[in-house]
Amino acid sequence: MNLHEYQGKSILKSFGVSIQEGRVVDKVEDAVAAAKELTAETGTEWYVVKAQIHAGGRGKGTVEETGSHGVVLAKGIDKLEETVKGILGGHLETAQTNGVAKKVNKVLIAQDVYYPGASEPSEFYMSVLLDREKGRNTIVYSTEGGMDIEAVAENTPELIHSEEINPKVGLQGFQARKIAFNLGLSGQAMKQMTKFVFALYAAYEGCDASMFEINPVLKTSDDKIIAVDAKVTLDGNALYRHPDYAAMRDKSEEDPTEVEADEVGLNFVKLDGNVGCMVNGAGLAMATMDIIKLSGGNPANFLDVGGTADAERVEKAFNIILKDKNVKAILINIFGGIVRCDRVAQGVVDAYQKFGTFPVPLIVRLQGTNAKEAKALIEASGLDVISVTLLQEAADKVKEVLA
Ligand code: GDP
Ligand code: MN
Repeated sequence: MNLHEYQGKSILKSFGVSIQEGRVVDKVEDAVAAAKELTAETGTEWYVVKAQIHAGGRGKGTVEETGSHGVVLAKGIDKLEETVKGILGGHLETAQTNGVAKKVNKVLIAQDVYYPGASEPSEFYMSVLLDREKGRNTIVYSTEGGMDIEAVAENTPELIHSEEINPKVGLQGFQARKIAFNLGLSGQAMKQMTKFVFALYAAYEGCDASMFEINPVLKTSDDKIIAVDAKVTLDGNALYRHPDYAAMRDKSEEDPTEVEADEVGLNFVKLDGNVGCMVNGAGLAMATMDIIKLSGGNPANFLDVGGTADAERVEKAFNIILKDKNVKAILINIFGGIVRCDRVAQGVVDAYQKFGTFPVPLIVRLQGTNAKEAKALIEASGLDVISVTLLQEAADKVKEVLA
């Protein structure tokens, strides 16, 4: 589950990470009061207005309606209000929004932390994530923070460092100091960075995150180290341990079909292919997607209907798959273990009959407990369903109907 920047920052703060303070608003009318409150707390009348959408690259992104960027500096209350008007409620497109502009429902009014002082502020990059190949949490960091870490990774990969954490002993002091040293810090800034790294890592572990990306981490002109941005992904399977984080979910940022599937308890991920699939069990679902691909099709989704593939669930699954206009065929692949195939077959027949005419060819493979009865049931129903036994046959039929 992805979080907004303001939510990520509130978690960071609760773990003792210093952040760029701010107030989030969803109405222009609230902006001035929020900014005044912030000024009372921070003492500055320089603000940064930041669009809250689930995508990075906001600083260089553009709001369709007004031409404003998604992160804008504003001095004074009047300018602040004008800036909020230029962003809030608009549609922001960035390099990370896949060609569509995203509605900005909230903006964060943050304190400007790039104030002049004894030294120049500098921007670093830091993220904590799970390196799946090594099976270890890893802190990735670079002196080249700011907006274009992807370009740094491509052009000058030697400027990106990483520090693996041994799960037995956790993050060690020497590692945090090494990070600070490699970032070119000394004195007070080095001390602050060491503290920052520990608090950031504690946040990552403590909330069962799969990623915390802070870009930029700022060294202020007076040697404070603070998180200016926060891109956080939490492990959805661990959310039951964190009801307060689970409540941070913003469904308006997610694929509407996936949200609907989730509500009826179907494990669904939308993809961009043309063959809808309905399978019980995640492993079988993945094998099914593979065979679709091998037969020249492209899976339109991942869908695990779970152990109780009864008529109601099959019908819901059909509804969800058929919302996708790219779907040109549906492959149902059920292995009857605990669930009996004839029950699923009845479900398919019932659901099919509800639709009257079915818009795309339907290929059904039922194997396992009562598979014979299931096949007989489908054949006797007289429905226009292609019933197969082997997975290879299923794949061949997919190829045939797509041709
Ligand atoms: P992103 O573009 O979506 O990654 O959004 P960020 O939160 O990283 O902000 C983009 C850029 O805005 C940062 O890289 C900074 O250069 C700039 N920025 C953010 N906060 C401040 C601030 O307080 N003052 C100034 N002057 N610039 C800021
Ligand atoms: Mn950023």
